[in-house]
Amino acid sequence: MKGYHGKFLEVDLTSKTTQDLPLSEDFCKKYIGGATMAAALVYERVHPETDPLSPDNPMVMATGPFTGTPIPMVSRYAVAGISPLTGFWGEATSGGVFPFRLKGSGWDGLIVTGKADGPVYLFLNNGRAEIRDASALWGEDSYETQNIIKADLSDDKVSVACIGPAGEKQIRYACIMNDKGRAAGRCGMGALMGSKNLKAVAVAGNKRPAFADAGKVGELAKQAIKDINGNLVAVAFREYGTLMYMDMGMTLGDTPAKYFTKSVFPVGDVTGQALRQRYSVANYACRGCPIGCGRDLKQYKPGLDVDGPEYETTVAFGPLCMNTNFDSIIEANHLCNVHGIDTISAGVSVAYAIYLYEQGALTKDRVGFELKWGDDEAILKLIEMIVNQKGIGELLSRGTLAMARELDRDDGEAAQIKGLEVPMHDGRAFHGLAVSYATGPRGACHLKGDYYNVDLGNMVLEYMILPSDRLVSEGKGEPAAKFQSFKDLFDALTLCKFAPLQVPQLCEMLNALTGWEFSPEDLLKAGDRSVNIKRAVSSKFGLTREHDTIPKICRDALDEGTTAGIQPDLETMLKEYYQYRGWDWETGKPTKEKLIDLGLNQAAEDLYS
Ligand code: SF4
Repeated sequence: MKGYHGKFLEVDLTSKTTQDLPLSEDFCKKYIGGATMAAALVYERVHPETDPLSPDNPMVMATGPFTGTPIPMVSRYAVAGISPLTGFWGEATSGGVFPFRLKGSGWDGLIVTGKADGPVYLFLNNGRAEIRDASALWGEDSYETQNIIKADLSDDKVSVACIGPAGEKQIRYACIMNDKGRAAGRCGMGALMGSKNLKAVAVAGNKRPAFADAGKVGELAKQAIKDINGNLVAVAFREYGTLMYMDMGMTLGDTPAKYFTKSVFPVGDVTGQALRQRYSVANYACRGCPIGCGRDLKQYKPGLDVDGPEYETTVAFGPLCMNTNFDSIIEANHLCNVHGIDTISAGVSVAYAIYLYEQGALTKDRVGFELKWGDDEAILKLIEMIVNQKGIGELLSRGTLAMARELDRDDGEAAQIKGLEVPMHDGRAFHGLAVSYATGPRGACHLKGDYYNVDLGNMVLEYMILPSDRLVSEGKGEPAAKFQSFKDLFDALTLCKFAPLQVPQLCEMLNALTGWEFSPEDLLKAGDRSVNIKRAVSSKFGLTREHDTIPKICRDALDEGTTAGIQPDLETMLKEYYQYRGWDWETGKPTKEKLIDLGLNQAAEDLYS
């Protein structure tokens, strides 16, 4: 087989054994790689009673056929399992050097089950796998853990993905950190890793599978680099990182403020430009990326460089909490990174606490101090309490749905979908985004539901996904479903979502690497299959159509800004979406016919037995 090693490493931490899991070429062709291949592996291994924090819940880390090749913007990996936060399908992705080295270690990925009897870390190096003692690392923060392991292995080329103390405590939205501040942030994959007593995965080596047509791969990679360097958006990403969207997002009503109840807020102090003007910013890039959207804030404090906050983080601790103090946002980001928690879920939970305080549902007695919009000291205090699970922080560490239920509030007030906190884009500003959010395979997801990109002009002609009036709902369901499938495929190929590459290019690349003959139609079908296998995993855990919704707090029409008085018509879009997907309107499950058409015969049998 070309483009793949053709094997995963299976690790059972209970028995401390490892073995190779061979992958057939048919399996690779069907599920491609990354999060999609992880979904197929998870599907086979879980049943409705699998507790997300039990040894039975597999944690899968997966690369894809593009990872580790000369193609730019592909050093990404996916980590997946049943989410400790949502109880449904969970996945997160991250870039950096780690994915490049993971593929170089000699496997396409790994599946970890069981639970070690004490802290351990894994070391995968050029086809050799070791389970090593990590007792001395338990309690260390995510940056220190990476430093200590690299020093311990005396190899600077080692790359480490690890949990911080939050993952050890199994905080429901703990994340996995790699290459300093890169995060596989969403769905609580750090809690899953912590539940196995697995502190880190270290990878090294340069084993690379052969390509079907190495010359063609080289040519395509060169052309792709040229295309990326000539792309205007890519240039803006380089200068301002993801924060380049802040001004535009607020102008369009897409950047939420005051816990999703406002869309007008002065963001001038917290933009990508402001970051450049106030701090000493250096770029960093995932391996092989000519953009480098990462921000390193040099000497943020004497002797301390920190990672710059992304757009999502800045909005979550900024406008969403009515906070314009950039220093406090940078500190909030650093605190989350050090402990290893998802900045989106943390920020939304903090904003919800302030909202609840304003409503009188939380009191000074319960919190220990006053909560006010824009109070940056209170925001930082709440994050400290979350990571230490102290006082009210314990409740906030369980996310907004748990907060609403414990405080006897309406579920619709919790800004989450399927238990995953809503990211920093607003479905009222782009109706295609609303239906993508409602149906996202992992819950509210801006990365596969980034329909704002379409309505801002990034069309996908091959699939007739065309820009249209962003505030119109009718007719959005089908293109939103196709775009979601297309973006889901990025996480199978392990391609960065910011890569401005076209469908024919992706087909050519996949074919040159593997020797297959994928057409644009095959690629879309693979994306549809990907969404459906993830849906089948969640269906096993009781997901229904009722879960495909937007909470009231994120749906009620606002009385200000460019979206004033406008609400997405979710029902209409969902019907169109279901029609395209071939999902049953009553149960929310993929129909048997659809599953069989996609080759998901086992799922068809399981869901309809
Ligand atoms: S654009 Fe940013 S996230 Fe994407 S590959 Fe480049 S550095 Fe990594």
